[in-house]
Amino acid sequence: MVDLQTQYQQIKADIDRGIQEVIDSASFVKGQVVKDFESELASYLGVKHVIAVGNGTDALQIALMSLGLQPGDEVITPSFTFIATAEVAALMRYKPILVDVDFETFNIDPAAIRKAITPKTKAIVPVHLFGQCANMEEIMAIAREHHLYVVEDACQAIDSTYTFTNGEVRKAGCIGDIGCTSFFPSKNLGCYGDGGAIFTNNDALASQMRAIANHGMVVRYHHDMVGVNSRLDSIQAAVLRAKLPHLSEYTAARQAAAAAYDRAFAHHPRLLIPARDSQSTHVFHQYTLRLVAPDGIDAATYRDGVREQLISRGIPAMVYYPVPIHLQKAYKSERHAEGSLPNAERLANCVLSIPMHTCLEPQQIDFITSNLLEILG
Ligand SMILES: *Cc1c(COP(=O)(O)O)cnc(C)c1O
Repeated sequence: MVDLQTQYQQIKADIDRGIQEVIDSASFVKGQVVKDFESELASYLGVKHVIAVGNGTDALQIALMSLGLQPGDEVITPSFTFIATAEVAALMRYKPILVDVDFETFNIDPAAIRKAITPKTKAIVPVHLFGQCANMEEIMAIAREHHLYVVEDACQAIDSTYTFTNGEVRKAGCIGDIGCTSFFPSKNLGCYGDGGAIFTNNDALASQMRAIANHGMVVRYHHDMVGVNSRLDSIQAAVLRAKLPHLSEYTAARQAAAAAYDRAFAHHPRLLIPARDSQSTHVFHQYTLRLVAPDGIDAATYRDGVREQLISRGIPAMVYYPVPIHLQKAYKSERHAEGSLPNAERLANCVLSIPMHTCLEPQQIDFITSNLLEILG
C-alpha cells in the first residue's frame, strides 16, 4: 500500500545526517531537535502551538484530558473511522456518541451531530478521513451554537486546506479548539517509529496539554494534575525535520496519483471514485473506492472477491474499515443497534483502498488500473 523505501532513498543523506546528529548529541529525549521541529511545523501550518507527543492516539487522549470533562460527559464522533477517537473517549470514562457519516465524503454528517446533542454533550471530535476535511463550516457553527469543544482528528489529513465561505483558509487540525495528528510511518508525514502532535491556538489549553503530556508537571516533580508520559523522541523529530520541507511535494504526488486513478475509474459502472468536498483539499492518505455490486450479490462478498483477485495479481488492496465502531464488540450499546447508522454500515461493506503513496510511477498506476478494470469486467 505504501513504499517507504523509495521515499527514504530520495532523502537518505538528510535523514542519515539528522539521525547521526542526535546520536552524537546523546540528547535522545526532549532534545533541541524536538523543539525545532515543533516550531517549524507550527509555522508551516500557521498555528500558534505544536506539542509533539508519542503518537496520534496519545494526542487525542491528551486533548480530551485538557478539556475538564466529567465522567459520563458525551463526545460526538463518527462511527466509520479508525477506533482511536471513540477509544480515548471511552478510556476517559466519557461517553463516545457514535454518529453516521456522509456516504459521499466518508466524513461525519453535521445533521447527525445536531440530532445527537444532549445536555451532556461537551465535545465534537470529527475525523478528516482519508485526507479530506470534514464539513468544518457546519461543525464550527454547531459548536458555537451549543458551546461545545471541537477536537479535530487530523491524523490522516496533515497539509489538507479548508476554505470557509467567508474566505478564511486554515490547515486541517488548526480549525477547532485542538487538532491532533499522527506521524506513524505510513501517514502523510510519517517518522520511522511512533510519533504524534497536538495543535492549538489557545495558550491556556497549550500549557495544560504540555503539562499533561509530561506527567501533569509544570515545575519539575510538582504535579498539578494527573498526566501521562507521552513524547516524541529526538530521532523521530530528526526524521520529521528532514521530511517536513518535502511535505507539499509529497501532497502533490499523492494528488497526481489520485487524479490518474480518477481518470481511469470515473466512468466505470461498478466504481464510485472518492467524492471531493468543495471546501477542502484532499491529501489522499488513502485512495478509497466504493464498489457497486451487481444485483443480487452481497456488497461485502463482491468487494472481498475483487480484493482477493487484486492481491492474487500482486496488487495490495485494503478495507478501511470493515466494521463500523458501533458494531464493534467493545462499543455495542442499545443506542447503536445494527441498522442505526446506515451510511457507516453501507460503506464498511463496499469500500476498497488501493495503493497510495508519494512514489507511485505511471507504469505502476497503469498496472493497478488496468488490472482492476479487467477484474471488474
Ligand atoms: C493513525 C490514526 C490514529 C492514531 O494514530 P497513532 O499514531 O497510530 O496512535 C488516529 N486516528 C486516525 C484517523 C488515524 O488514522
